[in-house]
Amino acid sequence: MDTTLLRVNGKRLRASLEQMAGIGATPGGGVQRLALSDEDQKARDLLVSWLRDLDLGVTIDEMGSIFGRRPGRDDSLPPVMMGSHVDSQPKGGRFDGILGVMGALEVMRTLHEHQVRTERPIVIVDWTNEEGSRFAPAMVASGVWAGALERDWAYGRTDLNGKKQGEELERIGYKGKAPAKKWPVHAYYEYHIEQGPLLERQGKTIGAPKGILCLHWYDVYLTGEANQVGPTPMEGRHDALVAAAEMVLAVNRLPARMGGNMVATVGEVQCYPNSRNIIPDRAHFTVDIRSWDDEHALKAWELAKKDFQEIAARQGTPMRLEETWRVAHAPFNEKLVQRVLETAGQLGCSSLHMVSGAGHDASYLNQVCPTAMIFVPSIGGRSHVEVENTSWEDCEAGANVLLHCVLTSAGER
Ligand SMILES: [Zn+2]
Repeated sequence: MDTTLLRVNGKRLRASLEQMAGIGATPGGGVQRLALSDEDQKARDLLVSWLRDLDLGVTIDEMGSIFGRRPGRDDSLPPVMMGSHVDSQPKGGRFDGILGVMGALEVMRTLHEHQVRTERPIVIVDWTNEEGSRFAPAMVASGVWAGALERDWAYGRTDLNGKKQGEELERIGYKGKAPAKKWPVHAYYEYHIEQGPLLERQGKTIGAPKGILCLHWYDVYLTGEANQVGPTPMEGRHDALVAAAEMVLAVNRLPARMGGNMVATVGEVQCYPNSRNIIPDRAHFTVDIRSWDDEHALKAWELAKKDFQEIAARQGTPMRLEETWRVAHAPFNEKLVQRVLETAGQLGCSSLHMVSGAGHDASYLNQVCPTAMIFVPSIGGRSHVEVENTSWEDCEAGANVLLHCVLTSAGER
């Protein structure tokens, strides 16, 4: 058949997204499907059953990533790969990650339905723990697969309750046997919501990021001195939370002091014992710094560290810093990025060449094979929140761009 006329089934895509949104649904209309939770397990089971319905060869690797392989005419050729993640943030949205997996599934269903044969094999993937909100860092399974992170180190990462990532993989039955180790891939496409406001503001349907900002994560631990809040005078206190509060403001001021071209955020704070009548004796917070320029982000961290040291000394709260995770900025494969833009044009969609401020598994895939992403608009630019939304028309348009990018790549010798 003439595959240029092929289109995905938008209704079916919507139905799959809605069914997935029911797993871990929150009262506010979002989703909570933390990595390796019972909800993650349910979503995985459903995905695997759908992959089997299409006669795909299903493999689970040691990090729990799920692969569904569709043979090619020449099965010895490296496959074209597409996918994203099914885990979510706590009180996250119904589109982040899952759109890229359901979009890829819809592409597979469309090919299956029309009995399309491609030269190269095609693989759909769900990467384990992309979010990193339960077990840091994020994008851990694609990182291990790409050879950037150690498998056993990843297994040993713990959540707030002390549960180990490796044990939780085993508990939900997704510690697979296949080595979490890269293999040759011809091209990788990740379909995702934009998670920012640009497409909507400019009235465009498809975004083709030229790459992803660098992403640096740090953890700061402060030790103070606990005491009854009433009898203890203000002078001479060693309040770990007050020190942390000053540091949070220092992080917020960082981008302006550095002259822009970066963002810096504290998103998580823990205070101990977290009681209204005890001076906090311990505090922990996270720092997230992102920029297109890796050096710029490193210089910002040096500046932040100096501030932190001064604050910790003045407050009498000794500090421990952990440089948790760094991913260099990732310029995508130019040919594939152009293909996304051209494909959008052929399908009658407006498009925008942009950058991605959010991290994605595509960052690590980009270290292994030619990679590109396909973005669709986030209504109001909101993401990682329950109101995260994208129109069904845009979901369908993005899936059609994915379909035709994959068809083109899978037809290449
Ligand atoms: Zn995501």
